[in-house]
Amino acid sequence: MTPANLEELYDLLRIPSVSADPSHAGDVRRAGEWVRDLVRSAKGGSAELIETDTQPLLIGEIPASNDPESAPTVLVYGHFDVQPPAPLELWDSDPFEPEVRDDWLFARGVADDKGQLYAVLRAAVDLAEEGELPVNIRVASDGEEEIGGSSVVDWVLADERGAAVCVIFDGGMERRDVPQFCTGTRGLVAFDLYVKTGARDLHSGMYGNAALNATHALMQALSGILPRDGRLPEPLREGIIPASPEEVASWESIPTGREMLGEAGASPYDERAADEFWLRTTAESSVDVNGILGGKPGLKNTTVVTSAQANFTVRLAPGQDVETIRAAVERLIREAAPEGAEIELKTDRGTPASVVDPKSAPIQLGLKAFEKVFGREPLLVRGGGTLPIMAALTERGIPVVLTGVALPESSVHSPNEKLPVEYLTKARDAARELYLAFADLPRSG
Ligand SMILES: [Zn+2]
Repeated sequence: MTPANLEELYDLLRIPSVSADPSHAGDVRRAGEWVRDLVRSAKGGSAELIETDTQPLLIGEIPASNDPESAPTVLVYGHFDVQPPAPLELWDSDPFEPEVRDDWLFARGVADDKGQLYAVLRAAVDLAEEGELPVNIRVASDGEEEIGGSSVVDWVLADERGAAVCVIFDGGMERRDVPQFCTGTRGLVAFDLYVKTGARDLHSGMYGNAALNATHALMQALSGILPRDGRLPEPLREGIIPASPEEVASWESIPTGREMLGEAGASPYDERAADEFWLRTTAESSVDVNGILGGKPGLKNTTVVTSAQANFTVRLAPGQDVETIRAAVERLIREAAPEGAEIELKTDRGTPASVVDPKSAPIQLGLKAFEKVFGREPLLVRGGGTLPIMAALTERGIPVVLTGVALPESSVHSPNEKLPVEYLTKARDAARELYLAFADLPRSG
């Protein structure tokens, strides 16, 4: 990055585009306009803010320097909103006044995601300026990522044109100079379970062990979906695409399960949990009961409880289908519940899992492109979390290079968010190499 580039980025970082705070709605829009103007500044660039029910969505284009008709299209996504900076007293400098200290640039959003978004856009603008941009760049950027907005997801699903690949720099790496590509994310479905076993609570001395207790029935029902020996029941594993040998090999280069559990202060689920940590959290489905309500805990009483409820979430592994798993959960719960218990199960719309084929051309080209900048190929690592835009891209058949240059020390979502200044340059250079490499992709899909 040139000093002029950094000054340009500072302008964006100075805009307090906190999407969670309605009083900053104008700033979120201003950040969107700033990104719009950057895309427009590119040779041939065009961009508009599209109004939605929530925050405006930025859609822009930078055409390939030569023969855009036959060049492949690369979709670039990033977000221009940021997390709230609170608590302010823990910041060593103003979160919205960028400052370099010991080769780190401090500012809210420098890592997540304005700094990275700037780097990937700057690479495209520069290539266009040089007349060397070999792909069409389509930019989709939103101002509601940090509050779980869905306008960009809806846009991806509705955009018939598709793209040869999508590039997202909104993540990072576990270890400095060991970049990562995320090759899958898990899906998520949430459930509310209600159990009723009678008209009213009863005296346990008169009815205990004769009348059905709703909390017992609830526990029995839930037992139908809990893991045994580290795996969910088979019906909840249907469709899983196993991690590839390359992905499994990557687990050797990231913190071990023992470290992950130890640092979290967590107790291993069972004796194999630490060894199978990455398998279980990124390539298998999982269930967590998130809350249980029943009876009157804390109050000495002797009732036979007749209503109870729980909420739980199921994480789907890459390859699994939301509707199939939803139906299997419902069946297992009903089968496990005792006869006579009235079961009601409510679920949300759910978010699908995503998967990117590590052997696909965009990933293979991307690995080589990153090697030119970082001196080594990125690790291929699935993520355990859920990312709706990844799911939407998978649904549209668009492979994704999901990566980034944030470091564990970057304090993303925390006070003193920071990024090594040289990593902004590396992000720009890596994006540049990606665009050059993607010239070889077929025009569509
Ligand atoms: Zn982000």
